[in-house]
Amino acid sequence: MNRYKLLTPGPLTTTDTVKAEMLFDHCTWDDDYKQITQRIRAALLELGHVSEPEYTAVLMQGSGTFGVESVITSVVGTGDKLLIAANGAYGLRMTEIAQHAGVNYVLYEEENTRRPDPEKIARMLEADPGITHVSMVHSETTSGILNDIQAVGEVVRRAGKTFIVDAMSSFAGVDIPVADWGIDFLISSANKCIQGVPGFSFILARRKKLEESAGKARSLSLDLYAQWRTMDIDGKWRFTSPTHVVLAFAKALEELKAEGGIPARYARYAVNHQLLVQRMEALGFRTYLEAEVQGPIITTFFYPEGAKFTFREMYQYIKERGYVLYPGKVMEAETFRVGNIGEIYPEDIEKLAAIMADFLREVQG
Ligand SMILES: *Cc1c(COP(=O)(O)O)cnc(C)c1O
Repeated sequence: MNRYKLLTPGPLTTTDTVKAEMLFDHCTWDDDYKQITQRIRAALLELGHVSEPEYTAVLMQGSGTFGVESVITSVVGTGDKLLIAANGAYGLRMTEIAQHAGVNYVLYEEENTRRPDPEKIARMLEADPGITHVSMVHSETTSGILNDIQAVGEVVRRAGKTFIVDAMSSFAGVDIPVADWGIDFLISSANKCIQGVPGFSFILARRKKLEESAGKARSLSLDLYAQWRTMDIDGKWRFTSPTHVVLAFAKALEELKAEGGIPARYARYAVNHQLLVQRMEALGFRTYLEAEVQGPIITTFFYPEGAKFTFREMYQYIKERGYVLYPGKVMEAETFRVGNIGEIYPEDIEKLAAIMADFLREVQG
């Protein structure tokens, strides 16, 4: 098989040393293993600039959506009401989660190119005192927009509500001072900016609010409070944990630290993004988002005017030459996406641009 690097926003390209950790079948009830889990939980709190006892970290089996579903269905109780601010598919997925579990919610939907407006959220909270929780996505991977969770967090805190943030594709790639920004529950996963492999999500939770959620969960396996209670004893997971993924993740955390932590990783992703935009614009591509709202994680491009090729053809050509792109997800325009995260460096972006230039010469003449 022809190997390639992923220019997709998770799963993403990981290092060989992270992958190598998975060659050992670790015992789950052994003390060494439980200590790895505890070290991971402590490291995650540190990355979020929070600490025990105000905050705690919980790991949850499954992909990122399992983590979001765990929080929404565990902490929004039957008498509560959730305001979901959405400007893309991942925000809207929260409404699906709420519908399936019978969680009472209202939707504030914004266009894919615009950030949810904190003033508007403030007015909605004022108009409907029944709203108890607010949730939104930080880096909306649908478009690559970076939402202003700091401003919304301030509004939510002033109104005395609970703030839930899906920071799946941004946590550890973009610095998030969790407590300072008024975040009560933050969700991310193993296979995004920490550069581990897929298999679990994690939640940074304000401990007091997590304790208040006891008995509210609608699901057995996704019960966040119950998961925390078990894990907090000594690091044992409630049900079988993805041991290989956990070992790989512990290594990925070490490598993040060795790179220089979040500031260094953010800088690398930002350089990847800027270089990508420069090179692609030189080839005639235009970005979907305005630069002011664009995040460093993933970049959406329009197809060039009058393009004589399909995404499939472009994808195939580039894949055969070592890189995999991502199709577009925004509804109203013909686009495709390029992820800037993972074990990707400026030389990869230069190579991609050269392959893209060859492709355009071949198809457009
Ligand atoms: C990746 C991602 C998720 C989770 O998706 P899974 O496929 O369940 O891992 C959720 N929200 C955002 C913004 C994401 O980028």
